[in-house]
Amino acid sequence: MPTLVMKFGGTSVATLDRIRRAAKRVGVEVAKGYDVIVIVSAMSGKTNELVGWVNETSPLFDAREYDAVVSSGENVTAGLMALTLQEMDIPARSWQGWQVPVMTTSAHSAARIEDIPPENINEKFAEGMKVAVVAGFQGVSPEGRITTLGRGGSDTTAVAFAAAFDAERCDIYTDVDGVYTTDPRICADARKLDRIAFEEMLELASLGAKVLQTRSVELAMRYKVKLRVLSSFEEQSDEAGTLVCDEEDIMESNVVAGVAYSRDEAKMTLVSVADRPGIAAAIFSPLSEAGVNVDMIVQNISDDGRTDMTFSCPTDQVARAEKAMEEAKTRGDINFHDLVADQAVAKISVVGIGMRSHTGVAAKMFRVLSAEGINIKVITTSEIKISVLVERKYMELAVQALHEAFELEKAA
Ligand code: ASP
Ligand code: MG
Repeated sequence: MPTLVMKFGGTSVATLDRIRRAAKRVGVEVAKGYDVIVIVSAMSGKTNELVGWVNETSPLFDAREYDAVVSSGENVTAGLMALTLQEMDIPARSWQGWQVPVMTTSAHSAARIEDIPPENINEKFAEGMKVAVVAGFQGVSPEGRITTLGRGGSDTTAVAFAAAFDAERCDIYTDVDGVYTTDPRICADARKLDRIAFEEMLELASLGAKVLQTRSVELAMRYKVKLRVLSSFEEQSDEAGTLVCDEEDIMESNVVAGVAYSRDEAKMTLVSVADRPGIAAAIFSPLSEAGVNVDMIVQNISDDGRTDMTFSCPTDQVARAEKAMEEAKTRGDINFHDLVADQAVAKISVVGIGMRSHTGVAAKMFRVLSAEGINIKVITTSEIKISVLVERKYMELAVQALHEAFELEKAA
């Protein structure tokens, strides 16, 4: 039997009624002859509530117990989904992570999946089970304790199962009907994409297009899992949603696939650090040890052997970054005159694999921003992405202007 993985996000299992609706979708695929692995999230809002309870009980919580509590939302929906399917006369069984087992690292609250031996579930499929309902987001550590995969982790569970069971496709059912050229809440002309390349999706996901957990896209790209994002609230055809696939499977595409933004960026500048070999390592090693996710980095030209070093990081990590830099200064590892944090910036990026073969995208982006009177504070580029930091108050305007200038409302 061919295998299909179907993942239902929190809004798709938010009520018993919605679970029934999702189960009907599963029934349609079972009727086509698939063995189906259903991955469920917790009911929407549940995980936030559980995280809140943990924080209230113990602000400096033991991460093993955090995982014990926070993983529980998925146990409920997995059992309810299995019961609902059984009520429809579809042989179904629920599986918690440890029962499969989904073997992970011991990095509690941010564990990585290491292996999913398919034998236990396959044995049940051979005995006539039609649907395995697996609790997403969770696994078991080598020490035998429950782990979780980080927020949004059930997307990664789904892709990992699709790879482990060599599934024909991994369908991610969510509350939007696909991946858009930009956020439709900001830009009314945003267009749903029929297909998007793994690499583009990876950039968009990590830039804050919250449709898929970044790690799930990395996994899908590595194992060539055909990934489809679609809405559980609309009638479905086989062409519904957005297919995330290999670049070779996309016939025509715009040079720029999408415009992404990230609202919560901060620009940090170390003013006047000594420009000597090893200075970047002395700055960025302690930042990384402190868990600061540094994104853009710019070193200015130096004057008299001193230079300014600018980097960006999420706003909620500014305090951690400041502490790490002050400590490095106290230890004598670095020396700077001042650390200036600008918390009123946003990052805007244009992404597209077409940039590999087309020049002029950066120049056009800068012209568009300049025509709107938007000053660029920092620029970084990669092969398929150009990102700029701008004042946060211009974020929406910048996204709209770029979407229009690159004509993303039109298909290629
Ligand atoms: N329930 C978890 C969360 O809210 C995992 C997921 O839904 O992907 O982060
Ligand atoms: Mg999600």
